[in-house]
Amino acid sequence: MEKPSNGFRVFVKEIYLSTKERIELVDITNKVEEAVQESRIRNGICLVYAPHATAAIILNEHEKGLLSDIVKKILEIAPPGANYLHNRIDNNAHAHVASSIIGSSATLPVVNGELVRGTWQNIFLVELDGPRASRRIIVEVLGE
Ligand code: ZN
Repeated sequence: MEKPSNGFRVFVKEIYLSTKERIELVDITNKVEEAVQESRIRNGICLVYAPHATAAIILNEHEKGLLSDIVKKILEIAPPGANYLHNRIDNNAHAHVASSIIGSSATLPVVNGELVRGTWQNIFLVELDGPRASRRIIVEVLGE
């Protein structure tokens, strides 16, 4: 095993954005890549995390038709109008269910100062209970 160097660092940046639709994919690739550049970390990992129970993070292609397909599929899997127990408290059980299935984070490699992602992998916040004035995303870069 390679001996770790003394250059290990942790960089944290918070991204805030607003959403316009009830269900919406917001491309945050540029903001995450900016954070990786800012971190000056050359090699390590980048965690992208949404601290929300009614939002999610995905990696996929930024193509208009596909974004609509994904929204449509989310509505099929977790339809807002269904008979949820949680809707006795607040009317957003579909968003909690979809967030649970999709997941709240993504982890990507950082190699030679660049975020590694596939050609058709952009990073999206998935709004599941919008519109919201403020959604928070935490980008944490760990490495050297
Ligand atoms: Zn709720």
